Amino acid sequence: MPKSTRAKKGAVAGASSSARRDTSKAASRPTARASSGDASGASAAHERPSIARRAPSIAAPRVVESAVVAAGAELGEGCVVGAFCFVAAGARVGRGARIQSHTSVWDGVTLEADVFVGPAAAFTNVRHPRAAFPRAPRWDRTVVERGATIGAHATLVAPVRVGAEAVVAAGAVVTRDVPPHAIVAGVPARIIGWACACGETLALARVAPASASCALCDRRYARAGGAIAEVSGALPATPVRSRRAPRSRSPSRPSPRGRRR
Ligand SMILES: [Zn+2]
Repeated sequence: MPKSTRAKKGAVAGASSSARRDTSKAASRPTARASSGDASGASAAHERPSIARRAPSIAAPRVVESAVVAAGAELGEGCVVGAFCFVAAGARVGRGARIQSHTSVWDGVTLEADVFVGPAAAFTNVRHPRAAFPRAPRWDRTVVERGATIGAHATLVAPVRVGAEAVVAAGAVVTRDVPPHAIVAGVPARIIGWACACGETLALARVAPASASCALCDRRYARAGGAIAEVSGALPATPVRSRRAPRSRSPSRPSPRGRRR
């Protein structure tokens, strides 16, 4: 469990610039994959070719000047709270999480490590709000598990859980739990595909593929419990391969229709 910083009473914004750290320099180290149970990272020979995970940060949380962090909010190491955001007492923001501008994170909302939140995403903590019938402190919970992405202007209707490394498309309205690695889009949000830990689209299908591999980082996945999970070694079936064009090709080459979210 990473250390976290509980905001002091009256604390508003203001991590010093000395707390900032460029973590990109450490990005070339091999990635450690906790989810697969394969602490060795499959094998040294299985190199990640194109993209690497940001090294875990031990820097202080960075809160942009216009943001407000209430007393009692928890901010993990290396997290970033963007412009005009509000983090309420009782909210939890995990290590390395990044919240873009104009987003409020309420009591009852937990963002785990390395969650990305796009601009103006909306979290909620009461399913049936009434001004005259306050629910506090019995909040409906919203949990966004580690590594997941919440797109710009997406809305999460509590209670809801977004699985690890899932992707919520921009503008989606999430009213039910999202499995790990699923890509959901629309109103209400539905599963439209499956994403790699690195964010690449592995497959565009409602049902999880039996197996898949990522053309960008070469991670491999197999179907597990209605979702997918990273695996090491051989895959159980011919994998679906994500369709990212090799970087040597012309950037003007059109993308396959519907690939972009
Ligand atoms: Zn990948």
